Amino acid sequence: MPSIEKIVIAGAGQAGGRAAEALRSAGFRGSITMIGEEKHPPYERPQLSKELLAALDAPVAYLKPASDWTGVLDVTMITGAAVVACDAERQTVATGEGEIFGYDRLLLATGTQPKRIKTLEGASAQVHYLRNIEDAVHLRQSFHRQVSVVIIGGGVIGLEAACAAAKHGCDVTVVENQERLLARAFPGLVSEVVEARHRNHGVRFEFGVTVAAGTTNGVRLTNGAELKADIVLVGIGVEPNNAIARDLGLSADAGIEVDAFGRTVAPNVFSAGDVALQWSKCHDRALRVETWANAQNQAICVAGNMAGGNREYSDPPWFWSDQYDLNIQVVGDMLNADHVVRGDCQSDRFSVAAMRGSEIVGAISINAAKEMAMLRRLVARQSKLNRSDIESTAYDLRQALKTN
Ligand code: NDP
Repeated sequence: MPSIEKIVIAGAGQAGGRAAEALRSAGFRGSITMIGEEKHPPYERPQLSKELLAALDAPVAYLKPASDWTGVLDVTMITGAAVVACDAERQTVATGEGEIFGYDRLLLATGTQPKRIKTLEGASAQVHYLRNIEDAVHLRQSFHRQVSVVIIGGGVIGLEAACAAAKHGCDVTVVENQERLLARAFPGLVSEVVEARHRNHGVRFEFGVTVAAGTTNGVRLTNGAELKADIVLVGIGVEPNNAIARDLGLSADAGIEVDAFGRTVAPNVFSAGDVALQWSKCHDRALRVETWANAQNQAICVAGNMAGGNREYSDPPWFWSDQYDLNIQVVGDMLNADHVVRGDCQSDRFSVAAMRGSEIVGAISINAAKEMAMLRRLVARQSKLNRSDIESTAYDLRQALKTN
């Protein structure tokens, strides 16, 4: 293997930060330069729609104290400067400020950015997006009693923010263009449970429509209805920050394609985190995995490979969402499969397994974290199970782990 002396990490988010740590843990002693557009050192994003929206004085949690990156890990940390160009032949990256850094290996951990709604530009309501610390702090300062909040998008961002806004006493309406909530990842019966919980807290819903324009009083929907809004929050999904990947000749429209080791087809260039397009065994297709777990675990695995390791990453996608008293956890692919309910779906605690034939390809748990720990392992092992066993709460899933 040619000697590796310089590693550059483009992106100083959770994936970039975990990769830098993992490079040192793997024994890499050369230079590590991490370059991030935000002015902050690496932090995890789940807090943005959870703790930071819940209380005005909630502190920001960083991956580690800022001084540790240089002082302990010997990482050159450049924040507030985006990588804007790459040169594959010279193996260099350039920041917007014109600084140029050479690399022997490059990790693209540039993440994603929220999709925007152009028709809201110029609206009289405050229009928010939620992707970074400043967005979260700005949004929570607007959550006061009786403030009218319209949330566009009934996905995870929209619903966690709806939960926080409702708790602050805001008047909340969620506008979702599908006919139900969380349709990208949840089976219908779980969408219903989540919707009912929000309605119990006074949240209203408009399904099958989107926003057409801002008005002097709020927004107009595509069905002509008008909603009063002091604040509009848009949470309609994200798109990959892939511009520099194109400089490297990578076609990255859907994300930066990587193999199981995190390698792109460009020599010495790897990718990890939200921006990486990776193969998911349980989905049987390539996808970007926009989760906390992936930003950590894929990045650690790929960094080990950049430092000379040879390990495949194949964890099934897993994420959680906290809404009121519901802890919801999802693993694998819940769509394109049959659903087998374990427990009483009218209760506050149950699970649903997604089955393709006898193989478990996904699972979702409501307030059943211990069960999810086993379901995650079963999905990761592509286990074969009897549906009647899953349905029976008397059946101990540890038995299935012993035989799979
Ligand atoms: P999601 O993809 O989760 O949800 C977006 C929702 O908005 C979808 O239901 C989508 O429907 C709908 N939508 C799209 N366009 C419109 C529109 N014009 N009008 C109304 N509805 C629309 O994205 P989020 O923005 O909620 O989350 C962004 C990212 O943050 C995701 O990557 C997510 O994984 C991550 N995140 C994770 C959390 C967690 O793990 N708990 C918490 C918060 C965020 P359709 O399918 O039709 O496009």
